[in-house]
Amino acid sequence: MDAFTQEMQEKLLKEREELLRKLNAEEDNFRQEALAASGRDSSDLASDDAAYRKMEALNAMDAKRLKAIEGALKRISEGKYGICLQCGKKIPEGRLRAIPSAVLCIDCKTENEKLGV
Ligand SMILES: [Zn+2]
Repeated sequence: MDAFTQEMQEKLLKEREELLRKLNAEEDNFRQEALAASGRDSSDLASDDAAYRKMEALNAMDAKRLKAIEGALKRISEGKYGICLQCGKKIPEGRLRAIPSAVLCIDCKTENEKLGV
């Protein structure tokens, strides 16, 4: 593994750890809020529902990021890190530094976005 890939792996592992910690903390927070809310009357239910939906949305985003990170780590272990999943070209280091979990080059990413993938 070259120094750059190693650096990105460390970054990805750290990011994964932070994300997992954040997801756990959010769950704890919500559980405590739900517990506190169970003592209130039903007029509070609507706002709790909104809070729950917000948490779900946040979690979905984090879960997506987590999945991207896991994918990138898998690419590292397979020795394919930094190679575009779609066209097989090298992803520029600058792009990987900005988004270590990127598995597509900018061209393919733009193309996919146009297609709505
Ligand atoms: Zn590509």
